[in-house]
Amino acid sequence: MTSNDTDIFVGWGNNNGTGAIHLRPSNIKEVGALVEGSSMCIARGLGRAYGDAAQCAGGTVIDCTGMTEILAFDVRTGVVRVEAGSINSRATASRADGSFRSPPVPHS
Ligand SMILES: Cc1cc2nc3c(=O)[nH]c(=O)nc-3n(C[C@H](O)[C@H](O)[C@H](O)COP(=O)(O)OP(=O)(O)OC[C@H]3O[C@@H](n4cnc5c(N)ncnc54)[C@H](O)[C@@H]3O)c2cc1C
Repeated sequence: MTSNDTDIFVGWGNNNGTGAIHLRPSNIKEVGALVEGSSMCIARGLGRAYGDAAQCAGGTVIDCTGMTEILAFDVRTGVVRVEAGSINSRATASRADGSFRSPPVPHS
């Protein structure tokens, strides 16, 4: 987990950046410890949302990209349980036979 490094975060539009402490936990236990000790924090994935920028000026950004494990995959129901930084393509690729596609796919 990165400690007390401050970075500038932006949204997809790449403007109005704000500074925040950048933490990148690698498991859920670390997240618990961070949330416990922080009065102002936000989770961040890949930073690609159009209008819901994962920024927290003066606070802490919890970068979830270090947590990408697929925890459970029910082929019958299509329900996938993943860690908080998991990306759609990983779940899709995990089914080599092409039997799984996440709902937003195909996308823009
Ligand atoms: C070119 C382009 C095309 C796109 N096309 C589509 C499309 O076709 N279909 C579609 O559905 N979307 C599309 N999107 C939108 C984008 O895929 C979604 O907004 C996606 O959810 C962004 O994910 P992210 O990990 O980048 O989120 P971020 O930008 O990092 O965060 C977005 C929000 O989610 C919160 N968040 C992030 N991670 C967590 C977490 N682990 N726990 C709790 N909250 C969290 C953040 O705090 C923030 O409020 C497109 C975006 C771009 C840039």
